[in-house]
This record gives sequence, C-alpha cells and structure tokens, in this order.
Amino acid sequence: QPPSYLVQNMQDSVFQMDLETALRYSLKREVGSSKEISGEKLTALRNYLEVLADYFPLGLNGKKLLKQIHSMAQISQVVQGNEIGKLIKEAEAESRQVFSTPQKWLGCQGSSPEFRGYPCGLWKMFHYLTVNVAEVNAKNRSTNPRLALQAMHGYVKHFFGCADCSEHFQEMAIRRKIEAVASLEDAVLWLWQAHNEVNKRLSGDLTEDPKFPKMEFPDKRNCQRCRNPDESWDSGEVLKYLKRMYSSVNIHYMGAD
Ligand code: FAD
Repeated sequence: QPPSYLVQNMQDSVFQMDLETALRYSLKREVGSSKEISGEKLTALRNYLEVLADYFPLGLNGKKLLKQIHSMAQISQVVQGNEIGKLIKEAEAESRQVFSTPQKWLGCQGSSPEFRGYPCGLWKMFHYLTVNVAEVNAKNRSTNPRLALQAMHGYVKHFFGCADCSEHFQEMAIRRKIEAVASLEDAVLWLWQAHNEVNKRLSGDLTEDPKFPKMEFPDKRNCQRCRNPDESWDSGEVLKYLKRMYSSVNIHYMGAD
C-alpha cells in the first residue's frame, strides 16, 4: 500500500486514460444503449457532443470523429444511440489513432471492481470541461457561461445510468441555482461545490471505497491556501487550484501510447 501522501497526490492528478475511458464508456454504453433519441433528449445529446467536439482532449483523428458524431446529431431529428456506439467501436478497431490509451482506469481505479471507475471518470471529465471552457474563452465574453454545466446537466438527466445520482443531481441543480451561474469561472466553482456536497452525503456510505474515503476537496495537504484561518474556503485560491489541476497542460499521459 503506497503512503497516504502519494495516494493523495494521485487523487489530485488528471490522467488522459481516465478521461478517454469515461468518454468511450459514455458513448458506447450509455448513449449507445439509448434507442430513438429525439426531443429534449436529443437536445441534451447535441449539447454534450458540442462541448466534447470543441474541448475534449484528443488528437486530430479523435477530434474529427467527435465532430462527425456531433454533425450527425445536429442534422437528424431522431438518432439511434447504437449508431454512435458503433462509430466508436469501429474507430477502436481501426489502425488510425483515434484514442491514445487502453480502455482502463488509472487514477479512477478502485480497490475492487465495484468501486470508483466510471462515475469517478465522469466527474473528472466534467471538471476538466468546465475548466477548459473557462481557459480557452478567458477573453471571449460572448461564451455561454453555462456551456459545460448545461452539457453535464442534460447528460446526467437523460443518459447517466445511475438513476439515483441523476435525480440527486437534478434536485441539486435547482436548489443550487445552476441557471444563475453567470461566468465561466463561477461554473468551475459551482461544480466543485456540487461535487463536495455529494462527497459529504456519501461519506461512510456503502458505495465508498474504503481505500479512498470521501472528503472535502481539495485536501488540506494538497492546498493549504484553499482554506482561510477560520477553516472557511478561500474561493479565489480554490479556483486557482482547480484551474491548475484540470488544465489541459497538466493532464498526465502516463499509460498513453
Ligand atoms: P469521486 O467523487 O468520483 O471523485 C473523482 C475525483 O474527482 C476524485 O478522485 C478527486 O480527484 C476529484 N474530486 C473530488 N471532489 C472534487 C471536487 N469537489 N471538485 C473537483 N474535483 C473533485 N453516488 C451515489 O451513491 N449517490 C449519488 O447520489 C451519486 N450522485 C452522483 C452524481 C454525479 C453527477 C456523478 C458523476 C456521480 C454520482 N455518484 C453518486 C457517484 C459518486 O459521486 C462517486 O463518483 C463514486 O462514489 C466514486 O467515488 P470516488 O471515490 O472515485 O471519487
């Protein structure tokens, strides 16, 4: 068992392998198993694909594929989820490099198979997306401040396989006024706070991996400045921490080809 400070550092690292594994699982398994996607569900899918096509970290071939899937969803009135799943599977089987990692968990690996994995990867992917939409559009005032949050909200509502999680998230979105988020940086902080609320609720729950106890994030050991002397959060410092951790330049390519 590695020392706890190493586990803690690993926790606050973002791995390309986790992001890609979450993306592939999402498009093959969750979108891929949805039949006849239309109406509000199709709008949610289009919003999700738009953010992925523009901000998900992939090479040229990967970006091309995401743009192709997004265009397909834009022009169709009804989308069969399995068509999207098929495109991902075909891309995986081809020799041109679309994905750069094996489909495995690294930072999101649980201490046994029932723990962590996909939900962990999905959180990381959406934190990454909120931070990167903010990073890329720092000077672009016309960007919708809720671009990444809306994509996540719609995705979780219509596609996320954990029904309880989806209901909790929708309730939280209303209570925490997701619609009132007014800047790209506030979107980063909104998701951080929402995730911390979930961590608190699940602390000690049966679903908690005993090797990765749920705690308020970031841990003091990783960001001392994130807390004021009275233990309240210093949100400016938290924002800096999140922007650093989830920045595209800090993704770890360990295990990638
Ligand atoms: P996770 O909570 O999945 O976190 C993954 C990684 O994100 C951590 O390792 C850390 O690096 C980072 N992180 C942690 N907190 C923060 C933060 N505040 N800000 C930024 N980064 C952070 N499970 C349930 O049992 N009930 C639910 O209602 C429920 N709702 C969910 C809703 C959503 C939208 C999602 C995506 C998942 C939900 N889950 C729920 C699953 C649960 O939140 C965890 O994902 C799962 O238990 C695995 O936990 P984990 O230890 O891997 O860490």
